Amino acid sequence: MRANEERNRLLGQTIVRNLERRHFDACYCSTSAEAIAKVLQLMPEGSSVTWGGSETIRRMGLTKAVHDAGYTVFDRDLAATSEEAVTIYRQAFSCDFYISSANAISEDGVVVNVDGNGNRVAAITWGPRHVIFIIGMNKVTRDVESALARARSTAAPINTQRFDIDTPCRKDGVCHNCKSDDCICSYIHFLRLSRPAHRHTVILVGEELGF
Ligand code: SF4
Repeated sequence: MRANEERNRLLGQTIVRNLERRHFDACYCSTSAEAIAKVLQLMPEGSSVTWGGSETIRRMGLTKAVHDAGYTVFDRDLAATSEEAVTIYRQAFSCDFYISSANAISEDGVVVNVDGNGNRVAAITWGPRHVIFIIGMNKVTRDVESALARARSTAAPINTQRFDIDTPCRKDGVCHNCKSDDCICSYIHFLRLSRPAHRHTVILVGEELGF
């Protein structure tokens, strides 16, 4: 095992322990393939499933694997209109499983996200029976402050580029703490305890996934 893989494994195990103290279920997977198998194992046959706007879960092949496995999927990517997408956002609240990535996670197990419209952080907070996070080890930060800084200074400016959103950070890559109509940091969410206990599962992956 290479040194960086071993470091990720050891740090991943530390974060898993810290998440368990916060009433999460958690595990560390070395690869995306392992993480996909773990997600499919967690979701019983016949479950209803949806997900947030995550580059991570699409690129790693998880969304395709969930479709292929025959679950009842509410997939906003298949919506023909924006109204249909909003309907799927609302259906997310009654799903068995909501799959998401995160903008950052601190070493002591606080999951941090920023959100423009709030549908993702709303579903993380309440609604779907279970929430599964897939988080690459590139998103681990020392503490909550640096997790928030990562979300605002790295993840958000990349996402405004991806979606060509009219915010100051799209123009120069720097967070200006904007109040733009299109700001994707309207909601800033810290998930510090899983409540009810075990509603949230974090799967850490020893790869660079997403932004
Ligand atoms: S400039 Fe606005 S949208 Fe961009 S990271 Fe800062 S607050 Fe978020």
